[in-house]
Amino acid sequence: MAKRYEGRGVGIDLGTTYSCVAVWVDEHNRVEIIHNDLGNKTTPSFVAFTDEQRLIGDAAKNQAAANPENTVFDAKRLIGRKFSDSVVQKDIMLWPFKVTAGVNDKPMIVVKYKGQEKHLCAEEISSMVLTKMREIAEEYLESPVKNAVITVPAYFNDSQRKATVDAGAIAGLNVMRIINEPTAAAIAYGLDKRTNCSRERNIFVFDLGGGTFDVSLITIKDKFFQVKATAGNSHLGGEDFDNRMVDYFVQEFKRKKKEDIIGNSKALRRLRTACERAKRALSFVYTTAVEVDALFQAIDFSSSITRAKFEEINMDLFNECMETVERCLVDADMDKNNVDDIVLVGGSSRIPKVRQLLQDFFKGKDLCKSINPDEAVAYGAAFQAALLSEGFSNVPNLVVMDVTPLSLGWRIQNDVMDVVIPRNTSIPAKDTETYITVADNQSAVLIQVYEGERTRASDNNLLGFFRLSGLPPAPRGYPFDVCFDIDQNGILTVSAMENSTGNTNEITITNNKERLSNDEIKRMIREAEDYRVEDKKFLRKAKVLNALDDCVYKMRNAMEKKDINSKLSSQENKKINAAITMATNLLDENDQQIEIDVLEDQLSVLESMYERIMKL
Ligand code: ADP
Ligand code: MG
Repeated sequence: MAKRYEGRGVGIDLGTTYSCVAVWVDEHNRVEIIHNDLGNKTTPSFVAFTDEQRLIGDAAKNQAAANPENTVFDAKRLIGRKFSDSVVQKDIMLWPFKVTAGVNDKPMIVVKYKGQEKHLCAEEISSMVLTKMREIAEEYLESPVKNAVITVPAYFNDSQRKATVDAGAIAGLNVMRIINEPTAAAIAYGLDKRTNCSRERNIFVFDLGGGTFDVSLITIKDKFFQVKATAGNSHLGGEDFDNRMVDYFVQEFKRKKKEDIIGNSKALRRLRTACERAKRALSFVYTTAVEVDALFQAIDFSSSITRAKFEEINMDLFNECMETVERCLVDADMDKNNVDDIVLVGGSSRIPKVRQLLQDFFKGKDLCKSINPDEAVAYGAAFQAALLSEGFSNVPNLVVMDVTPLSLGWRIQNDVMDVVIPRNTSIPAKDTETYITVADNQSAVLIQVYEGERTRASDNNLLGFFRLSGLPPAPRGYPFDVCFDIDQNGILTVSAMENSTGNTNEITITNNKERLSNDEIKRMIREAEDYRVEDKKFLRKAKVLNALDDCVYKMRNAMEKKDINSKLSSQENKKINAAITMATNLLDENDQQIEIDVLEDQLSVLESMYERIMKL
């Protein structure tokens, strides 16, 4: 029986481009996808820093064109990776924000916030997105949210998963479980419930998101989810379709208006926003307008695009997706006829042409599309969260299990990878094996832990290492035990012991090099609180400034009325005018240094004067 957590737990799909939060609502007997403050069910995974404030979600994305260096997105592409990783190096070239190498080769994002340079790691940026998602949930539930299930791609390795747990911790969330995105989607469609024990069900998950494309073949048997194969393209998704449309309209603008907007990043950004909107509409209608006022040199842009045209300009990309589908099946050695269910995930899988190509590929088989594809992952995560939380009575009881995506082992003599836990072992799992020393009087053993499928350890991914020392003098062949323990999140702890004298000498790796230490996480939690306080302060100040502006306007209007002037003593008149002038000066100064208290005091002075005038 899995541990139950107190309080409501939510499910969070922490996406590369958009995130989504959901919760099981007992009263409705179903999962609810929670709207954000703008009424959207998905929130951009964007965080921006300005001279005045920090912005998260839609507000951050909306100002990206004006503040590109300090608007951070794609943190998920960095999380749990090293700066020198070739994937990271390639991404950096494409980003408008700066990334440098920090301690232990950890990538650090450099931004300017309130005039100061800040270095933030991917976990911190992701924690800010998670904080936003938590706040969205708290607003809806009208109570604090402490626990969450967070999803990650099936191919995420140990350090990427651990880093995601750390991001949750910095956001003040207790991460009850990390589950695979395709598994979450399969749960959302209730596919686990269709399983009967006698036969495995083969599920093909097609996830076409904003910037990534992943397909996974998973099998469910006896409530165990096993990822059989994954394939994908880490740079293919909705943003590419947007870009194709932007190119198309840039050409049209050139033809019709004889102007080239390439090179004007602001105009391009506005056009891209309009194109994304048009693309979404084209999933439901056959033609749509694209309009941008004063797009370039005060020239308005007004045009339209048909679904057919959209399909034509993206056809090669759509075909590329289908090639990946085929490759995944070949890798898994599975005939397409043996696929039982095809699950659509990711906002871009709503595109009708994509659905049609996929259905054709599977010879007309029905696709699972009863749940919005951009919500399916959060939906499944919320379901899992409810199962792990106390106090949900109506959740259908099932236990979902994932399996290890990669083999885990350590490097023995001659650089051989000795696998202790093979890939696709259902988790949690624990295995202890006995080894022997290779030299006479060997006093210590270096345990280097790797994940991967290659036989040569150094070809795999090094997760961490430690030394088991204090072995007694003895001829070679002296025994010691190594234990691999992998918890329900797929997170690994390795220990080694030597019990000749009944003493156990045990060392555990809980942190690998690039992982944040407990102290670092604590510091980041404190800093996250500082950001939150500053955000609140900024909002309070913005509200006072607005109210002050409003009040000055009302006062001026009132004072212009002659009869009021005559009803006031000249001294009173002077006092009021002085107060208005002072307020106007404060507003004009727009100085960040002005204390909120000063503004609030001035506001209350003006308000009481206004009340007095209105009584005349
Ligand atoms: P992520 O890759 O971050 O997990 P999502 O799965 O939420 O993101 O997908 C986001 C992408 O889906 C965006 O590019 C968005 O424009 C696209 N999208 C959302 N709704 C639609 C729609 N109705 N038609 C086509 N594309 C859509
Ligand atoms: Mg996604």
